[in-house]
Order: sequence, then structure tokens, then C-alpha cells
Amino acid sequence: MKLSFYGGVGEATGANYVLESGGARIMVDCGLHQGSHYAERQNFDPFPYDAKSIAAVFITHSHLDHIGRLPSLVRAGFKGTIYSTGATKDFAELMLLDSQHLLAQEAEREHKPPLYTDEDIMNVLRMWQGLRYHEPVAVGPFTAELFDAGHILGSAIVKVGAEGKTIVFSGDLGNFPAPIIQPTEMIDAAVDYCVIESTYGDRAHENVDKRREMLEDAVEDTVKSGGTLMIPTFAMERTQELLYHLHQLFEEGRIPHVPVFIDSPLAIKLTAVYKKYESYFNQQTANIAKTGEDILNFPGLRLTLTTEQSKEINGVLPPKIVIAGSGMSNGGRILHHEQRYLPDPKSAIIFVGYQAQGSMGRQILDGAKEVRIFGETVPVRCKVMNIPGYSAHADQPRLLEWLEHMRKTLKKVFVVQGEQQSSEVLAGKIIDEMTILAEVPKPKETVEL
Ligand SMILES: [Zn+2]
Repeated sequence: MKLSFYGGVGEATGANYVLESGGARIMVDCGLHQGSHYAERQNFDPFPYDAKSIAAVFITHSHLDHIGRLPSLVRAGFKGTIYSTGATKDFAELMLLDSQHLLAQEAEREHKPPLYTDEDIMNVLRMWQGLRYHEPVAVGPFTAELFDAGHILGSAIVKVGAEGKTIVFSGDLGNFPAPIIQPTEMIDAAVDYCVIESTYGDRAHENVDKRREMLEDAVEDTVKSGGTLMIPTFAMERTQELLYHLHQLFEEGRIPHVPVFIDSPLAIKLTAVYKKYESYFNQQTANIAKTGEDILNFPGLRLTLTTEQSKEINGVLPPKIVIAGSGMSNGGRILHHEQRYLPDPKSAIIFVGYQAQGSMGRQILDGAKEVRIFGETVPVRCKVMNIPGYSAHADQPRLLEWLEHMRKTLKKVFVVQGEQQSSEVLAGKIIDEMTILAEVPKPKETVEL
């Protein structure tokens, strides 16, 4: 069996791996490369393999850096089946349609043709089949099974078997404990090889148990100073986690009632899908949902779907909270709010997720005194806060703990989906502390398993 790494190596985004056995090929993830641009230049390059030769694609979860090149793959002639959980398929439809608009805008600005059209996305969905966790599927010489990755709703770890060997692709693994979804499943089966993510491979999350408290403090401070609290966030999972915690904080009377805007059509639509998959919730959340309580809603919550509604937020006097995408401030409606409130010392911006190198979010987080938004220089005078505990990714101790369950049989671990430094640190730990072979593959490298 051969394994090739076509993306997601030495970088956090662009996951794309191909397995080959006896001339048959399957793929795991087909993600967009993202950084300072919504879509980096590599996304426009032709695939380094023949798309027609791929029999199936297994999708770990619906983040764009795992699904964003599927429409291009279909355009390039892919004729096989796409497999994922049902929730991932539902979310992916919304994510791809939304990204298509952002990509089209970016392409226009850069005088490039758009990466794909709505029609390409419809073609992708026609080839897509939903699976339940642990529902086995066979493709040629391969068998595959999905496990709950605990990263976002519907996220999966993919276990593949062929030629008597087993390989596990972690996809993205979740932080623990996650507010709404189930924890990451441990794989106790005999596994020979593992491809593991390393977004936070070089550090431990601080204050996971304090994240709700930190959010509470940030809201209280901003309300007291009469400013606007901006939360650039991913529409998927993070927005729902914030809603879940704000719901609790309002309910328990821990924060004053102020208007909260979800200024993201995508987040609004994704939140609606959550209701369909309550069976994927963790026990505690499922119990609350069973009582009929809407865990993702509260008085004062306003959903601004249209551009007109979004503009009306400006007319609402602070204090107020605005939750909008994109999560790394490299596009989306958050830019309008940042243009307006970054210069305001009474206001604040909180980061609740990973900020890739080169993104505007990373610049602000790293202390930039000014940033460029819509061709204008915007001074940063508001408070800048970080609540890393909201990360949807496992940290280094959690990644090692997850690997530990497979330790007895593991022959080698491939460390991917992290910045080079982060991947190398995790690989080093695996070698030193677990005495298992580990390496950070090179882009386009092929290894014999
Ligand atoms: Zn992810």
C-alpha cells in the first residue's frame, strides 16, 4: 500500500492524502490551502494526480481546508463516490456554497477566473453519500470506517484497511471537553500507521475550563466601557459553542442583557442544521435539548441574514456583541465591524480560534498597531484578547493521549496539518516519549506502507 501526501504537510490547511493498493486509489480529504488569502495560489494549480483515477474520497469533516477543493476535483474528472457522515455532507453544502461567493469576490479582485461555480458544487453533492459512524464501507481492496473525532459536529476519524494493514487518519481532533459534541473516540483496534494532525502539536491549551469565565469577563468589561465586542469566528461549531455559553451566562444572570448579533448568513444556516443532529450531542447537551430548551438561542439574539440587516447593526448603539466571520479576518462581514471598531479604545476584539500565519487575525493578535482593510489603513486601538480554550483542536497532551491507545501496534506516525515547527515538535515527542517512529512528510512525498 502506498500513501502520498499532497497537502496539509508543513502547513495547517489543504489536507489531501492518497492511498494506493493494487492500482486502486482512494483519497482522504481534499482541502483548500488557506492563509493570507481566502484561497492561496496553490488552489489554482492542477492536481498532481489524475482525478479520474480516484475511486472514492473520504471526508473527515466540513471545514474548508478539508473539503474546499472537491468542486475542482470533480471539474478535473473525478467520477467516484464521496463519503462522510450525514452531518458533514449537510454542512459541506452550506460551506461550499458560501465559499463560492467569497472565492468569486477574491478572484474578481485579483483578476483571476473563479475556482468553481455553484454548478460544480451541485455535481459534488450528487456524488456524496452519508455514512453513520462505524458503518463499514468497501471500495475495491479498501475497507473504511468512521469514528467520532469530536472536533466539530459530524467530524470523523477515518480508519482504512487494505493488504492486511490498517491506517488511521485523524482528520482534526477535538479539544476536550467540547461544549456541545461528543468527545474524541479512542481507537482501540490494532493500527499499523497513523496520520495525525498537529495544529497545536507544540503546546498545551491554557484555561480550557476557564474559557466560559473569560468570555463572561470580556462581555462584562466591554459592556462597562460601553464598547462593541467583536468576535471574529468560524461559522461552524465555534459560533454554536459561543451561543451555547452565552445562553448559559444570560440564563444564569451572569452577564447583562445586551444585543448579540450573529452577522453571518452561513453561521445562521449552519446553526439551523444542528437541530437535525441532536443525536450527535454529548449527554449533557442532549439532556437539555430533550427538555425542549433551545440551547443555541436567547432573548436579545439577532440573526442578520441580509446585507441590509447587517448594516443596521451600525445604528444600534453600543454596548453590543457582534459575532461574524471569517474566523481569521481574511474576508467576510467581520471586516466591516473591524474597520469601524478596531480604532475605538472602548471596544474589544476577542480571538477564539486558530489564526494562521499571514492572516489579518494573526497580525492583530501579534500586536499590529495598524492593519489594512479594504485598501485603508485602520489603527488598532481597541482591546485585543485571546481565549485559546475555545480551540476546536486537541492540544499536545491530548494528541499524545489519543495516540497512546494505538501504541502497542503502531509502526509509524506521520505528522501533518500543522505549521512546520508545530509538526516537528509533535513528531519529536512521539519519538522520544512513545518510542514510535514519526516523521513530518514532505509535500508530494510518497511512502510505501
Ligand atoms: Zn477542522
